[in-house]
Amino acid sequence: MTHVITSLCLRDNGCSSVCPVECIQPGEADSQYPTYYIDPGTCIDCGACVPECPFHAIFPEDETPTAYKAKGGEFINQVGLTGHYEANNHNGELVVLETTRALTAGEVVDLTPSIKVNASFFR
Ligand code: SF4
Ligand code: SF4
Repeated sequence: MTHVITSLCLRDNGCSSVCPVECIQPGEADSQYPTYYIDPGTCIDCGACVPECPFHAIFPEDETPTAYKAKGGEFINQVGLTGHYEANNHNGELVVLETTRALTAGEVVDLTPSIKVNASFFR
């Protein structure tokens, strides 16, 4: 098993420094891999990264929601989307993304495609 970073990730970089096995990496190029990713072969499922994410983007793989209900104001961030997002991250650095879409309150999205994307990134 592993933890998974889903498309709710907005590259805040709050999680990578707390991982004891350093298995969280930013996607590159971000037009193809726009979020951060967890190496499923290295993650030890300690859960330390989960509370560090301000966007609640990280889940144990088997608890990744198939029907995540948006509160409103969140963004999803994945290949193919064209929405602009920018904000300062955990370290005060500007993050600019062009692969987002704002979610409306009550909208339901399947976050499980992120499981495959995480695995693909490390292949
Ligand atoms: S803390 Fe959350 S938003 Fe930031 S890089 Fe990690 S998973 Fe992505
Ligand atoms: S669950 Fe633990 S080992 Fe896995 S990515 Fe998060 S901090 Fe790293």
